[in-house]
Parts: sequence; C-alpha cells; structure tokens
Amino acid sequence: MSEYREGEGLFKAKFDSFTRILESSGKVAVFTGAGVSTLSGIPDFRGKHGVYNSPWKGLPVEEILSIDYFYREPGIFYAWAEEVWYHLEDYEPNICHKALAKMEQKGLLNTGLFTQNIDFMHQRAGSRLVYELHGSARSAYCTNCNAYYTYEQIAPIVRAGEVPRCRTCGALIKPDIVFYGEALSSSVLKQAEISFSQADLAIVLGSSLTVYPAAAFPELTHYNGGRTVIVNAQPTAQDRNAALVFKDIEQFSMALDGYLDTI
Ligand SMILES: [Zn+2]
Repeated sequence: MSEYREGEGLFKAKFDSFTRILESSGKVAVFTGAGVSTLSGIPDFRGKHGVYNSPWKGLPVEEILSIDYFYREPGIFYAWAEEVWYHLEDYEPNICHKALAKMEQKGLLNTGLFTQNIDFMHQRAGSRLVYELHGSARSAYCTNCNAYYTYEQIAPIVRAGEVPRCRTCGALIKPDIVFYGEALSSSVLKQAEISFSQADLAIVLGSSLTVYPAAAFPELTHYNGGRTVIVNAQPTAQDRNAALVFKDIEQFSMALDGYLDTI
C-alpha cells in the first residue's frame, strides 16, 4: 500500500467535495505527468527518484536527450531508450489511465487531456483526444525524407541493438519525441492555453508542476476563475491555489473510476 494513501474517512469527505466540483463544472481539462506512468511501473527519467536521473554509463541524461547529441551519437540515444521506451509493450495502462478514458467517454473530460508522457498509455487505455506535450514514441520520422514509421516498426530494430534507418533513403530515423533543445509543438501549447483558460476545473495528476509551461496550466484555470484539483505524492507550487489536494494517484483514480460507474 502506498505511503501516500489517505485514511478512508478523510479521503471520502474530500472525494465527495471533488465530485460536487466535478458535477458543477461544465468544462474540465486534465494534465498528467510522470507520476501517472510510474504507477504502471514505467521509470520516471526526470524525477527526483527516477532511475534515469543518475548518469547512464557516465553520461548525463540531459545530454543523451539533447537534440544535438542525438544527431551526433544516435547509437547512444537508442541504447539508452531501448531499456524502457522500446519495451513499452511490457507495461500496461493503470487505473488512472482507465479512469481518465472513462471520464472522456462519459463526456466529463471535455476540454482536453494533456500529458507530458511519451508512452501512449492514455491511448492504449481508450482515451481518444490526447495532447502530447513532449511528443510520443508511437511514431517516428526519417530525418531526411520525412517518411513515417510506427513504434512497432522501430522497436524491434532498437531492441536488436541497431540504430533505425530509413528504408527509402538510409538516413537516421528520429522518434517523434521532443528532445532537449527542441521547441514544444506550438499548436499543442496553444490548445493548452485555450483549454486551461476556459476550464471550470483543471485536474493535475502525477506532476510536481516545477517546469514551465506545464506549471502554468493550473494557474491559467485559477486566474480565469476556475478551480484546480491536484493529485500528486509530493507538494506542488500550485497547491496553495487548489480547491483540493490529493496525495495518492491510485486511491484517487480508483474512487474516480468507481464514481464514474455510478453516473
Ligand atoms: Zn528517408
């Protein structure tokens, strides 16, 4: 059992407050961070306790994940990425992914599900409209002719210890992930700005909200008169503006999933 799990009495009272807020909110936007993926066992490479926070074979992860380094040493990137990102089929969507998919199906998550995770677990759980701020490992492109490749085409090559190259022109293939030194998609950012500004309720799950622009999303909702609910093990800089703060993602997600079955 998680150390962050709250006692049943307190949790139930807070969750009842949450459902009242949800029921009175017309527009709901959600942002998910690494904490949602770690619940599936996927390591958090940026987190304080992430296994990839420490250098990999003597190299800082920020360097391996920088765009200049990728072009210089693609073999190092793919060797690093092989360990987790190209074994995503070994992991399953968890109760949080499933509850959010159900929320969308019930029409309650209607202004956008935004994630910084690249593991496409939300889509595997059934979410249809997902905005991926850091891109996704689901697709890849030839860096020369822009030919499109799927995860299923790339993963076996990476797992065989090889650098994937374009079948047409032989150039390096790059996953559709935002590397350090690359800009986030301006269309996704624009959509986030619209969604969180208009939202009556913003729910943040599994993010410490330390890095912008993600940290600004609940702020946009708050300063435009909406309410925010934070679900994260560690305190966040936005807790002070939140209507409710939950600590345990699994506990919250199970309650949300159960609630959605009753409506
Ligand atoms: Zn090509």
